[in-house]
Amino acid sequence: PPLHRQRHQFVVDFVKRNKPQKVVDLGCGECTLLKKLKFHREIELLVGVDTNGAKLQKKKNGLAPVSADYLQPAFNQLRIELYQGSVTQKDSRLRGFDLVTSIELIEHLTVADLECFSEVVFGYMIPLAVIVSTPNSEFNPLFPGLEGFRHTDHKFEWTRAEFRSWASKVCLEFGYEVEFAGVGQAPSDQQEQVGFCSQIGVFHRLRGRNDMFCDGAEDVFSYTLLYIINY
Ligand code: SAM
Repeated sequence: PPLHRQRHQFVVDFVKRNKPQKVVDLGCGECTLLKKLKFHREIELLVGVDTNGAKLQKKKNGLAPVSADYLQPAFNQLRIELYQGSVTQKDSRLRGFDLVTSIELIEHLTVADLECFSEVVFGYMIPLAVIVSTPNSEFNPLFPGLEGFRHTDHKFEWTRAEFRSWASKVCLEFGYEVEFAGVGQAPSDQQEQVGFCSQIGVFHRLRGRNDMFCDGAEDVFSYTLLYIINY
């Protein structure tokens, strides 16, 4: 299957194993991942955030229930919300989720914005788990004719060591542990040398839930709610 589907399938497999109830997809773009996740009805709240409000407006209709959805009365209630907003800004409605996903997003951020992203996601939203995927630049020589980055909007593409270094720093600073994975395999004789096409970090919070959010922080609403649907 194409790479973007493999990345989304990685998240779906995680959801099947870990059964998070509140999930937010940052940089949700075309809402493709949200559309897949809405079939996993252990999820009670499914949220998408993107800076591109026009894209969300265009794609939101695919999130509405179809009549077959109402024939599954055994399932929990599902609520879907879409926000226009930037991951560099805090919004208290996104605190305390079970899972935050960030699929092919961070490489679109400047170094300063990436710093904010880490603060906002790991230091403020404080979810139980975070899945971050980003290109692995060591794989790039396998793309014929590719010079520079895979996409003109990318601000960086990291080697495995660079990704590890960022991830370890985040873990130390905010109290998480990380496991590394990836999707998109090189031919078997090169796998070790170049790694996966997309590298993925799966972060888990070290401390339990009950010492969360006792910082008395005030509510902040910096995102714009564009769409809300209750199943
Ligand atoms: N996650 C989707 C996927 O897996 O197909 C889309 C990935 S697309 C390469 C990157 C997305 O991130 C775009 O939809 C873009 O609008 C969004 N984006 C870029 N900067 C952002 C920011 N600061 N906050 C939120 N979304 C952002």
